Amino acid sequence: MDATLAGTRCARCERVYFPPLAIGCEACGAPEDQLRPMEITARGTIHALARVHGEKPCTVAEIQLDDGPLIRAVLSSDRPRIGDVVRAADGQVFG
Ligand SMILES: [Zn+2]
Repeated sequence: MDATLAGTRCARCERVYFPPLAIGCEACGAPEDQLRPMEITARGTIHALARVHGEKPCTVAEIQLDDGPLIRAVLSSDRPRIGDVVRAADGQVFG
């Protein structure tokens, strides 16, 4: 079973947010009491990649989650490619 991330979903327009929004829906303008907690499945497709150089090199990806939000996460895999399906491996590290 895939890990989940704690997000929110708008009860009015069903837009999903991660990280959770607390100031009302950006899409339809619903007030914050319309934003409900939602467990987002931590699985998605790599949309963009950036290699970060330095003391501890790593790869950061934009991941289009199956549930909707576009997030940024560190990747654990060695040779990630755009279009790969990844899931949370350890906290918010995806691989
Ligand atoms: Zn909304």
